[in-house]
Formats: sequence, C-alpha cells, structure tokens
Amino acid sequence: MTQRYDHFINGRAAAPADGEYFTSTNPATLEVLYEAARGTAEDVNRAVAAADAAFRNPLWRDLSPTKRGHLLRRLADLVVENAEELALQETEDNGKLLREMRGQLAGLPEYLYYYAGLADKVQGSQVPTSSIEVLNYTQREPLGVVGAITPWNSPLTLTTSKLAPALAAGNTLVIKPSEYTSRTILRFAELTVQAGFPDGVVNVVTGMGAEAGAALVEHPGIAKISFTGSTATGARIASSTAARFIGCTLELGGKSPNIVFGDADVDNAAMGVVAGIFAAAGQTCIAGSRVFAHRSVYDELLEKVAARAQSIVIGDPRDAATELGPLAFEAQLEKVSSYVDLGVAEGAQVATGGGRPETGLGGYFFEPTVLTGVDNSMRVVREEIFGPVAAIMPFDTEDEVLALANDTEYGLAAGVWTQNLARAHRMSRRLDAGTVWVNTYRAMSPMSPRQGFKSSGVGIEHGLESMNEYTRLKSIWINT
Ligand code: NAD
Repeated sequence: MTQRYDHFINGRAAAPADGEYFTSTNPATLEVLYEAARGTAEDVNRAVAAADAAFRNPLWRDLSPTKRGHLLRRLADLVVENAEELALQETEDNGKLLREMRGQLAGLPEYLYYYAGLADKVQGSQVPTSSIEVLNYTQREPLGVVGAITPWNSPLTLTTSKLAPALAAGNTLVIKPSEYTSRTILRFAELTVQAGFPDGVVNVVTGMGAEAGAALVEHPGIAKISFTGSTATGARIASSTAARFIGCTLELGGKSPNIVFGDADVDNAAMGVVAGIFAAAGQTCIAGSRVFAHRSVYDELLEKVAARAQSIVIGDPRDAATELGPLAFEAQLEKVSSYVDLGVAEGAQVATGGGRPETGLGGYFFEPTVLTGVDNSMRVVREEIFGPVAAIMPFDTEDEVLALANDTEYGLAAGVWTQNLARAHRMSRRLDAGTVWVNTYRAMSPMSPRQGFKSSGVGIEHGLESMNEYTRLKSIWINT
C-alpha cells in the first residue's frame, strides 16, 4: 500500500477537500514513493484562514521576539535530530546525491540560528521633526500571511530561506512545495509544531503549481508571495501581486557565465567549471552554463573539462561513489535532451556526452555534456536548460568577454578565474549579476544577501536585508 500524505493545516494533517492525491516517483529508479494531497482553492482557503487566525492569535502575535528566536533554535535542533531521514527522502524525491543532501541538511540549522539571532534586532528609529512638540518614530511590523512557493531542486534549504526570516519577523506562512518534493516540507511543518510554534503559524498545501500554487498567489488573504522557481512562473506571480499592490520576492532562473582568463590557474578553473555546471546534474539556478575561456587556454580548459566529465560516475544518488544522479523527472529529461538536439541543429558540436548513459536503473539519467562551436546567438546559450550541459566559447579581450557575459536576460551569478587582482575587481564591478565569485564557484551562506538582477529576480534573500522583505515600516507621530 503506497504511503499517503495529507496537507498540513492548523497544526495537523488535513485531507484534501475533494479527496484527490497525486503520485511521487523516485527519478533514479522510477519506483513509486508515495501519494500526496492534490490541493485545490478550497484547501488553500482553509490554510490561509488558519494562518490568518494564527497571525492574530495572542499566542503568536504577542510572543516576544526573543521567544520567536528560541522557537527557531529549537526547530534547528529538531532538524539536526531528523537530518538523516530528511536527507534520504530528498534524495529519493529529486535524485540529488545523498551526500549533497546530507551537506544541505547539515547547513540548514545555520539558516535557522542566523534568523533566530535577528528576531529581536528588528527595530525602528526616532526621526527628527521641525517641532519639539511632536515625536516621530518608526517601527517595523510583520506583514501577515506569507505565501511561500518553492521548487524541487533544494526543497528544504530554499523553503528555510523564506521561513526563517518570515517567522523571525512574526509572520505566519502557507507553503506550497513543488509537486515533486512534498514530503520533507510536510515533515518540516510537523517539526515546527514539535518545536513549539503555535498551530496555524506554518501550514503546507501540496499539489500542482497551476492549481494549489495559483490559488495561493490569487488568494486575497495573502500579504506577500515569496517565490523561488522559473522566470516564466515568476513573471505570472509578479503581475498578479502587482495588480493587488502586495509584495513579492522572486528568486528565478539563470544562465550564468563562468569566465576563465589566460592568467588563471587552469586546473582550478577546470574543477570550478565542472562543479559549476555538473553539480546536481546542472539543476541549480546558479549553474555556470556559459563557459568563456580566453583563447590562450581554451584548448587546455576544454580538454580538462571534457576529461573530467567523461570520468564522472553516474548512478544511484544514494551510493557513496556516485557523482551524478538523474534529472528530477521525465519532462526535465526531455527538455535537456531536446536542447542538446537543438544545439546540434543550430551548429554546435558535442565535445563529450549528449546522450543517456547505461546505468541499469531505468531512471532519468543524462550524460554530462559539453558543447563547442556555439555563440551567443544560439538558443542553447541564451536559454536556461537546467541540466548538465555546458556551452564553451573562446574570447580574446576583457571588454569582449564582459559584453558577451552581460548579453543575457538573466543576472543571477557569475564566475571569474584570474590571478590578476585588478582584473578581479574590475570584472566584479562590471558584471551584471547579483553574485560574483572569483576563483571559486557556488559559495553561499545565510549571512550573505543574494539578489537576482534582470530576469533572475526581485528582492533579496539571505542576510540582514532579507528581514526587510518580511516587514513593513510604519511612521508614528505623537503630539506631546
Ligand atoms: P517552476 O516555476 O516550474 O515551479 C516552482 C514552484 O512554483 C513549484 O512549487 C510549482 O508547483 C509552482 N508553480 C508552477 N506554476 C505556478 C503558478 N502558475 N502559480 C503558482 N505557482 C506555480 O520551477 P521549477 O521547475 O520547480 O524550478 C526550477 C527553476 O527554479 C529554474 O528556473 C531555477 O533556475 C529556479 N531556481 C531559482 C533559484 C534562485 O534562488 N534564484 C533557486 C532554485 C531554483
């Protein structure tokens, strides 16, 4: 009998109003894992009503910020206790390496501790006025019910990036996780109650984006939407929230450049290029999918990247020896595969990879792939593939590569490999990307704010700045 998961509303499991469930499958083995409730507008109504009541409940509304911090710390401790189970479930759901999910779970408490520490540091200020008889001061308030919509590629980490600052600031939440990764978010919601958060502060409605997700975005009781996912969905959410004058934070897609200069340590750069694009089978928003190599090191870099790509061990993501797992679901596999075909039709050459490997597992595996003979006019270079496909291009000058790197609708991240400090500073300043890494790739922490430029996002996640995304500023005047 397949295990069934209901929504999590007002502190307990809640069956879907219309009794519908959908199936979740392991992308490595195609084994059916469980069924989760297929949320409707009716389920979203119940969840928002619970979150709204919790927001007004003195048990939460009047809880001191210091105590909100304590609850977040307790939640962090429960994550530590349950880390192995959660990591294994995420691996089974989305096909990412178990050792990577263990790493993410080990890092998760840092997010909760960081915002626990900020809960009692949200403050306003006293503002000078033209009259000594009037006192003007500001205060920061929580917004109300926050709708959090998250993708499947790092479910708990991306959900916690929203939940931790939102709760630290005193909001309540309705979370709509990706339909591919429902169960760890449901378990996480249970842990919030175990940690002592009052019923209704954290609610989860599972289901499809176009159904439960859209209903959450459209719900009149929502004060803000915080979304991580594709740029196409983000655009839809932005127009809906703009029409109702409510806020949104959007963390969207990318097509990040990874630039290797002639003076770089090519061995390190090759490792950075490989990790930049092939980690998580390329299914990361920050994937360094456009690789620019100075003509003087182009051949050497290509050879090193291709050799490493060919040696990557593909297999069951639960095995310690595996370096590359499957794509997360069938449509992902079809998308990645059709982009490689499109690239070849556009004139690209496949330097390595380009097809489905033999693993004997039956899942949605795709080889680490390197395309050459490409340029910025091709769709494989312009559009986010979200798979293990790197496009490598030569360049001659710094100005040329800067123009090529910035010639994209996206602006999420960029990598620069150089031993020249002045060039590192110049490039960091001039690249149109919210995050720039020099001689490294993928570094991130809850303490460091990140923002997608251009079509990669709106608003800031992580860092002190993220607290402003979950509060509003009130100006109070008192006639003394
Ligand atoms: P997606 O946009 O298809 O789905 C994301 C979430 O939105 C899911 O929960 C989905 O059910 C929901 N959704 C879909 N349609 C909706 C609608 N009409 N209304 C409301 N909700 C809807 O994205 P995905 O395929 O799950 O994730 C991959 C994308 O996420 C990539 O583009 C990737 O770059 C991006 N991403 C960005 C970041 C970041 O921090 N910038 C991090 C991870 C992933």
